[in-house]
Amino acid sequence: MIAIALACSPKILIADEPTTALDVTVQAQILQLLKELQQRYGLAVLLITHDLGMVRKVADRVCVMQHGKLVEQADCATLFAAPQHPYTQRLLNAEPKGAKPPAARDAPVLLQARNITVDFPIPRGWLRRAERFVAVNDVSLTVRRGETVGIVGESGSGKSTLGRALLNLLPAQGERHFDAVDVGQLDTAGWRRLRKRMQVVFQDPYGSLSPRLTVGQIIGEGLRVHEPELSKRQREKRVAQALHEVQLDAALRHRYPHEFSGGQRQRIAIARALILRPEFLLLDEPTSALDRSVQAEVLALLLDLQQQHQLAYVFISHDLAVVRAMADTLLVMRDGQVVEQGSAAQIFAAPQHSYTQELLDAAFWRHDRT
Ligand code: ADP
Ligand code: MG
Repeated sequence: MIAIALACSPKILIADEPTTALDVTVQAQILQLLKELQQRYGLAVLLITHDLGMVRKVADRVCVMQHGKLVEQADCATLFAAPQHPYTQRLLNAEPKGAKPPAARDAPVLLQARNITVDFPIPRGWLRRAERFVAVNDVSLTVRRGETVGIVGESGSGKSTLGRALLNLLPAQGERHFDAVDVGQLDTAGWRRLRKRMQVVFQDPYGSLSPRLTVGQIIGEGLRVHEPELSKRQREKRVAQALHEVQLDAALRHRYPHEFSGGQRQRIAIARALILRPEFLLLDEPTSALDRSVQAEVLALLLDLQQQHQLAYVFISHDLAVVRAMADTLLVMRDGQVVEQGSAAQIFAAPQHSYTQELLDAAFWRHDRT
């Protein structure tokens, strides 16, 4: 695309969200390329993006838009150092910052996974030699009560597959113990009892909620399965409580998902998970589809709920700033393997593996690592 754009030796290049769909390391390469081309050809670039980190890295001047108007215009250093307009200030504040206050190190172990391996059959005729593709290769991890384990890595590195394997949502080799119960040995009834204690929130707040059910029905669904003895009134009360926990008005339960914004839908998905009073939540890119300012609110809510209920999280994200704000310990994945694992604070301060360094350099040029 860049080659096409440059074919007629233009004087100005308009790049509209040029790297939004890319992983951080690829993003960094594309930005580097743009910079080089700009210098070589004396090109003016109009870069359109919602990514403030990128702006900070590449822009000379910045224009901030809100509701179709330019509300602020300044050179880059000035804008980031002293934003004038309230909207700019809000945008800058919404960048995930800082690290999570650490969870208790000696909290009891809730989930223990050993040597988890997941493979998928490869369609015949594609790669003839190997018949199975290993998406997760020999991963072990421990999740304590009240703790967040972050899983980072680029798309296709096996994060979601590992998350699903931890919850027994797909067949995997290896051992999983949840609260000292061997998940592999459970019968259907035992598994159902355990299942209630571990819940999932996925990335896409549009795709993951059924459009034909009201919000109340969606949130209450799990209760029908796991607590069928409840009366209709008891169920309604629990739905109202769950909505309250995610800071939504209980009156909204009669509405349908399409009437809500992305951030609200993600709150609904969280309420649906919380209503069963789980001890463990798998959060798979829970804020990746949201704008930064909405993302900040949902992250704050998740931290809050974790404190209140001593929830254990496995938090999957390709966004390192988000993971740093959320995780106690960290797994860095690449091609199905864990390349680095340990305390999040330590890994962010002094990454050992070259791939982790590459990820951090690509992501944190915007913060303290510059
Ligand atoms: P991530 O969440 O890190 O982006 P995934 O766990 O979704 O990565 O996928 C890891 C790898 O496993 C990818 O190469 C993906 O194509 C492959 N994969 C995931 N699910 C399946 C499946 N059901 N069948 C075949 N391959 C799969
Ligand atoms: Mg994924």
